[in-house]
Amino acid sequence: MSANLDWGNLSFAYIKTPYRYVSNFTGGKWDEGCLTEDDKIVLSECAGVLQYAQTVFEGLKAYTTADGRIVTFRPDLNAERLVSSAKRLEIPVFPEERFLDAVDKVVAANRDYVPPYGSGATLYLRPYLFGSSEVIGVKPAKDYQFRLFCTPVGPYFKGGVKPITIRVSDFDRAAPRGTGHIKAGLNYAMSLHAIVDAHNNGFDENMYLDAATRTYVEETGGANFIFITKDKKVVTPLSDSILPSITRRSICYVAEHYLGLTVEHRKVALEEVKDFAECGLCGTAAVISPVGKIYDHGKEICLPSGMSAMGEITQKLYDTLTGIQMGTIEAPDGWIREIK
Ligand SMILES: *Cc1c(COP(=O)(O)O)cnc(C)c1O
Repeated sequence: MSANLDWGNLSFAYIKTPYRYVSNFTGGKWDEGCLTEDDKIVLSECAGVLQYAQTVFEGLKAYTTADGRIVTFRPDLNAERLVSSAKRLEIPVFPEERFLDAVDKVVAANRDYVPPYGSGATLYLRPYLFGSSEVIGVKPAKDYQFRLFCTPVGPYFKGGVKPITIRVSDFDRAAPRGTGHIKAGLNYAMSLHAIVDAHNNGFDENMYLDAATRTYVEETGGANFIFITKDKKVVTPLSDSILPSITRRSICYVAEHYLGLTVEHRKVALEEVKDFAECGLCGTAAVISPVGKIYDHGKEICLPSGMSAMGEITQKLYDTLTGIQMGTIEAPDGWIREIK
């Protein structure tokens, strides 16, 4: 039976659900792992995650398709990305097949919390790894935990999609050869001041530039950019310090193989942004958020797509990708994983 929640009015906030999956790494190996109802973690005051932020995470969604199946979208890519994130922070790898099994188990156990088709809401899944044993001299922890919980979240844009206004940030997100390409909490900790300051000044998000030269576009705190040129090419910034968004990679595939558009993955200079026709932010939460305006130190770049709706190509990309996710458009092989 479906949980008694007001699906259309949920926000992006944590709601405790009955089950989560936990596996511990002790004595040099992962234990069997299991579902548990215990939402609390008891840790040493000196745990590695608390002292030196040794933690990486993922984010993906489960939802109900038009024909009533409960599915996840490309969870194999989340499993793979968690492996590369873990390696960069000296965290033992959680095997990809075990990650997929944990996703299946948590969604199945909490199936009453998967929002119905058409509600716009989804069940957001948060897998993560963290150093759980004591660390005081700087080194990796000995013991770790993998945990995966879920929480139902509302439609990202309530009452319709609205283009957002962003600003070019004076802070940097990620250094060359740093950790920008992995999904680590530390990349978010340092972005909190910048986002609070952006909000205080009336902006929805920060556009980060490359830290070395501050001339190329990187990404926002938690979403990749796509740009559409006036001749309808899809352009996405290339950089070693951008987090490889699964949504962005999926959009590029859809652009090429479903819509017949040309896709360019290349460096994008801030200087050329004024020449684009459309701009969007891609991530699991909103799929695509259209950007209407970019503020750059007194100069405003107003995208021709305007402040009232998604641009034409952005809309097509959004409709096609969400159609694939919801099962109304045929998905490429392996993109949709059904939960039995
Ligand atoms: C998670 C994340 C994204 C979006 O990735 P998706 O796989 O599409 O959800 C983009 N940028 C950063 C910094 C992220 O952490």
